[in-house]
Amino acid sequence: MTASSIPTVKLLINGEFVESKTSEWREVVNPATQEVLARVPFATADEIEAAIASAAAAFKTWRKTAIGTRARIFLKYQQLIREHMPELAATLTAEQGKTLADAEGDVFRGLEVVEHAAGIGNLQLGELANNVAGGVDTYTLLQPIGVCAGITPFNFPAMIPLWMFPMAIATGNTFVLKPSEQDPMVTMRLAELALEAGIPAGVLNIIHGGPDAVNALCDHKEIKAVSFVGSTHVGTHVYNRASLNGKRVQCMMGAKNHAIIMPDANKEQTLNAIAGAAFGAAGQRCMALPVVILVGESKNWLPELVERAKTLRVNAGCEPGTDVGPVISRGALARITDLIESGVSEGATLELDGRNPQVPGYENGNFVAPTLFSGVTTDMRIYNEEIFGPVLCVMTADSMDEAIDIINRNPNGNGTAIFTRSGAAARRFQEDIDVGQVGINLPIPVPVPIFSFTGSRASKLGDLGPYGKQVVQFYTQTKTVTARWFDEDAEAGALNTTISL
Ligand code: NAD
Repeated sequence: MTASSIPTVKLLINGEFVESKTSEWREVVNPATQEVLARVPFATADEIEAAIASAAAAFKTWRKTAIGTRARIFLKYQQLIREHMPELAATLTAEQGKTLADAEGDVFRGLEVVEHAAGIGNLQLGELANNVAGGVDTYTLLQPIGVCAGITPFNFPAMIPLWMFPMAIATGNTFVLKPSEQDPMVTMRLAELALEAGIPAGVLNIIHGGPDAVNALCDHKEIKAVSFVGSTHVGTHVYNRASLNGKRVQCMMGAKNHAIIMPDANKEQTLNAIAGAAFGAAGQRCMALPVVILVGESKNWLPELVERAKTLRVNAGCEPGTDVGPVISRGALARITDLIESGVSEGATLELDGRNPQVPGYENGNFVAPTLFSGVTTDMRIYNEEIFGPVLCVMTADSMDEAIDIINRNPNGNGTAIFTRSGAAARRFQEDIDVGQVGINLPIPVPVPIFSFTGSRASKLGDLGPYGKQVVQFYTQTKTVTARWFDEDAEAGALNTTISL
């Protein structure tokens, strides 16, 4: 294909999908084949300005749109997403690499947030205290704050944009989204469906790019809030820069999630859960389980865990029966390979080496097969860095307390899990562990949208998480009204006013 015959990813500005005038483009590449699927622009400063201006203009009317009107758009939107699920999943698999089942899961977990947004009438409610003083009432209004921005990572290109713009828009804000430049195509298809569902011109805008585009969003005075999901390094930069510019910021960042396996756990269920959570989606989940701590006698389960990992099928995500697809890019493959080499040189035992797997028909794919280290210690790079690939680090501990201590000393606090048949052990774990999302006999405890995503410590900056109740607070400004009405004015009003309904 020549450069001119490759489709281009459009910008969305003021309700129109427009071709960028930039001279800077990058390729969207299928990670299983290296086929160039599209070219994505790095928007110019003028285009970013136009997107923000369009959101600011749309806010003037959108903020006063009736709750029912907003809710009905999201009712229609969830229906459209359902109807287009196979197409959305296929696009996602082609550009991101995950299996079709995982791609449907990616869209579905975002769809749940859209369903939640359709219930905005029950969510954006203020409070009222009657007679706080004689004849005086106090009540709160949860009002939208203005233009909000979202910056999203490559690993969930459907779910994470859907964590952001539906709830921001349902609460009456307008939005500028900057998706990952590595896989923006499914996000753009979701935007087309959002417009089809009735989101008016200017309410949702999309720009593409890298650090310059992100910095422009962090700096612009019209933007009142920034939601970020991605790595800790970039998220910390976004938090600091946007906060310095007076914005609300929420940053969900990197992870190193540990599971504790107690010797009384249900062995079959636990080993299956660990294999899925460590290697599924090629380990490119912020809620993956890349570290397992075998407590006491469960250390004897290691050979079976290795056997379980060997059974997983590595192939292109679009092929039936695939368990582990490719990683996102050649760069990611090189980084993961380098980390595996560091594990070997730093003295961990490589129980299963997934480097350079043979994948017939997809010889150019960015594949790493399940890789498993035992004897991992907390001073190794494979322990201290987020590998974001299908690599599992196995450690041992003599007691649950020792295992909890290891987890609490790790700087990250995104997710964790315990596998046990003991309610008392599980309860102590949930009490003492310093991690935002806790699974009990569940490997990937991502909360459904009636709750919020709740990472902690180095995995999160800002006190309010995405979706759920917390994000209604994040995307609204509480106004507190204290009101008194005088009886004598009521008399006068009744005499002088004609009320028409
Ligand atoms: P990333 O931080 O590289 O990119 C995220 C976004 O930031 C992208 O839109 C990218 O264009 C932009 N960006 C990249 N470099 C930048 C820079 N120097 N300055 C400004 N902006 C920049 O993350 P990624 O590799 O796309 O995603 C993987 C990471 O995201 C992992 O660390 C993973 O744990 C994390 N993640 C966290 C969660 C969570 O909820 N905690 C969820 C998904 C992913």
